[in-house]
Amino acid sequence: MLRIRNLDAGYGKLRVLKNISLHVKRGEIVTMIGANGAGKSTLLHTIIGLIRPMRGELSFLGQACDRIPVGRIVASGCALVPEGRQVFASMSVEENLLLGGYVLQKEKGKAAVQKELARQYALFPRLKERSRQLAGTLSGGEQQMLAMARALMSRPKLVMMDEPSTGLAPLIIRDIFAIIGQLRAEGNTVLLIEQNARAALTIADRGYVLEVGKIIVQGAAADLLTNSDVQRAYLGRE
Ligand code: ATP
Repeated sequence: MLRIRNLDAGYGKLRVLKNISLHVKRGEIVTMIGANGAGKSTLLHTIIGLIRPMRGELSFLGQACDRIPVGRIVASGCALVPEGRQVFASMSVEENLLLGGYVLQKEKGKAAVQKELARQYALFPRLKERSRQLAGTLSGGEQQMLAMARALMSRPKLVMMDEPSTGLAPLIIRDIFAIIGQLRAEGNTVLLIEQNARAALTIADRGYVLEVGKIIVQGAAADLLTNSDVQRAYLGRE
């Protein structure tokens, strides 16, 4: 579904990502873990077209996408749940969700949006209870759920999540990761960017470890959880 080969990207002359190669197959949860400043957000922004690669190849659904405008890759089915949620605080929960369904409505009409809304409310009952509440008054965990549901409203083929656990309490993080696991059960494909390595590797099929712009380890998530280098640097002690 997503394939990246020998990618370099950065800002001006600063090369942040160096020789990145990765792929995501349909129906997988793939996680990219790494410390602050490793280049995780830069990678997502390059995939989505906000940053133009300096070198390398990027393709989504078999189409080269390193030179297309941001809107087009989103319309072709790649949705981003941004870091820090970025919900529209002064709009209600439901208005936020309907905004996420904007392209779907244009293409498939209102009935399709209503059906999608019902699906999201089934996946996130808390959002249904609070459908009329202003998004800015939700808790951090609820805002993260809203950001996820808003992205899913477009029925994306690939959902990319930028550090969904940031700033949330451990119990809420558990709920958020349980929902991400559920997304795969419903047939979604997810690229999950996380600093919370243990939680991410626990639900993922495969993982990559990014360190100062380079992928240093990759493999089955279960293997990374028991890899001694990964344990030492990212998993801490039990
Ligand atoms: P975080 O968890 O803090 O978001 P990250 O792994 O997502 O970390 P990036 O935000 O991709 O890391 O940043 C990688 C490097 O790129 C850092 O050294 C950062 O200072 C630099 N960087 C990020 N954004 C810019 C920018 N707009 N202009 C110049 N340098 C930037």
